[in-house]
Amino acid sequence: MFCNIGGKIKGLARIIFIIEAVFAAIAACIFLFDEDTILIGFLILIGGFLSAWISTWILFGFGELIEKTTEIANNTKTTTATAAQRTENFSAEQCENVDSDINVVTDNNVTDPQPQTGICQLCNSESHLTYCKIKDNLGIRYRNICDECIAKHNAIPAKK
Ligand SMILES: [Zn+2]
Repeated sequence: MFCNIGGKIKGLARIIFIIEAVFAAIAACIFLFDEDTILIGFLILIGGFLSAWISTWILFGFGELIEKTTEIANNTKTTTATAAQRTENFSAEQCENVDSDINVVTDNNVTDPQPQTGICQLCNSESHLTYCKIKDNLGIRYRNICDECIAKHNAIPAKK
């Protein structure tokens, strides 16, 4: 009975407009049938129609306002709930990430002593490689390079 008031007000505005327009048309007809008052009849028709239309704007606008406000209120409710849930999830994820970071560090410490072999990205020779920061006239680069190249380029071992 009291739900969707905005929609009901808009419906009422439409009904009022139709009633006013019909009354204006009836009143106009009375004058239109007489040749002496035909001009008055036209004025009543146009004027009545316009005033019916304009007078229902306020009512229609009010209905629209209530409708939109209700919509916003509903949306805000949902958004707030979602945001709260997201924050909860995020903190949970963060905690997990911190845990996994610790695990990664531990794993690295275990695997590091094993020599990593491959093709040096500077001299292309197969050798033990170290991930290093190389600074020369070309700028700063990060490459997997051999021990010889480390000495040659004064490279600094870097963390991946
Ligand atoms: Zn090399």
